[in-house]
Amino acid sequence: MSAITCKFGGTSLADAACIREARAIIDANPERRFIVPSAPGKRTPDDRKITDLLYLWHNIALQGLDASEPRNIIADRFVELARELGVSFDIQPLLDEIAACVCDSESPDYMASRGEYLNGRLIAELLEATFVDPAECIKFDDTGNLDPATYDLLGARLQGPGRFVVPGFYGSTPNGAIKTFSRGGSDITGSIVARASNSKVYENWTDVSGFLMADPRIVPNAKHIAEVTYQELRELSYMGATVLHDEAIFPVRGPGIPINILNTKAPGDAGTRIVASRESKFPVCGIAGRAGFSMVNVEKVGLNKERGFGLQILSILDHENVGWEHMPTGIDTISLIIRDDELKDKGPAIVKEIERRCSPDRVSLNKGLAMIATVGVGMNHHIGIAARLCSALANAQVNLRVIDQGSSEMNIIVGVDEPDLNKAVCAIYDAFDNWG
Ligand code: ASP
Repeated sequence: MSAITCKFGGTSLADAACIREARAIIDANPERRFIVPSAPGKRTPDDRKITDLLYLWHNIALQGLDASEPRNIIADRFVELARELGVSFDIQPLLDEIAACVCDSESPDYMASRGEYLNGRLIAELLEATFVDPAECIKFDDTGNLDPATYDLLGARLQGPGRFVVPGFYGSTPNGAIKTFSRGGSDITGSIVARASNSKVYENWTDVSGFLMADPRIVPNAKHIAEVTYQELRELSYMGATVLHDEAIFPVRGPGIPINILNTKAPGDAGTRIVASRESKFPVCGIAGRAGFSMVNVEKVGLNKERGFGLQILSILDHENVGWEHMPTGIDTISLIIRDDELKDKGPAIVKEIERRCSPDRVSLNKGLAMIATVGVGMNHHIGIAARLCSALANAQVNLRVIDQGSSEMNIIVGVDEPDLNKAVCAIYDAFDNWG
């Protein structure tokens, strides 16, 4: 029988009622055999996520202060969940074990992972499923990347009848220490489990019915996206569409396992299907943007002929340990677009070093840039896309500071002043909605 991997996000498991809904979804299809839970999330907008409380607990305890408040809130929530769900196992010894280990490491990863671990234990009991601890079979290598041996190790643990519960968000390093993915990383675990179990589909159950063509806070009636390719989604989620972790597609992309983004509150909704390839009627499938970029502009007459000029600049960034996003160039100019959270306060040092090592005519650092990606596989060989996009921005009185089209011709990235971000997204959306 071919199987399905189901990952449930924190809001879909926030309380006993949500967990019962998740169980009804799992029970509705016997193929849903591999279950990946997040830690319980917020029950109301001003509630706290268990993971946030675990980070807080670790932080307070490391400073030698009294962490009883977060510890008690966490304990109460799990005890209450177990009671309301009628789960028979005693959660208290597990909580005591965590409390005893809180200061064992400077790294918060062990503590942060315990939300998924406890929820996984609880849900495995509820579903009468086999519990598989990712510490034993999701492995990171010495550089912090996923060790490909994970797929065989985990695959071997997912053999046999019945259901399996694999908590999201963590694995372990070669020396056995717990290590988490970045925040929201249970999506990545779901994808790893789907691949290791050879699932026919990876269902990612969350609190929305898939993706919209643009952020609904900016474009209120943005259309639903029925199907999107892995590649399109990478572009969109990287640039701000946050439904799925932007690394979650890597494990399933090779074997071509589709991901369905589905809504636990509306399980009958179609959701969005993420696939390897698709036919597209319209050139543009989505528009995503975000603020918080800076641009380093380097000018030197004839720099395009100067051997190793670009390389020097990149090695300066490398030396400062700063990654870059885009590098539009002209004959006499090179610009580097860098995320502010990557650049931190290193901008002036980078400018100084470029002045020292590259002797440019001019170098400047400009902040306050927002980047917008307009994405769609149907844009390839479609005449007039950039013209339409630029005139939409011009009509909306938005100044275009950067434009960059990927050679795959499936995205056009523009940079605008941060205050123009929403206006620009609306203008691009209106220009491409139903056009093509
Ligand atoms: N619980 C973790 C977080 O809050 C991981 C996840 O939910 O995916 O980031």
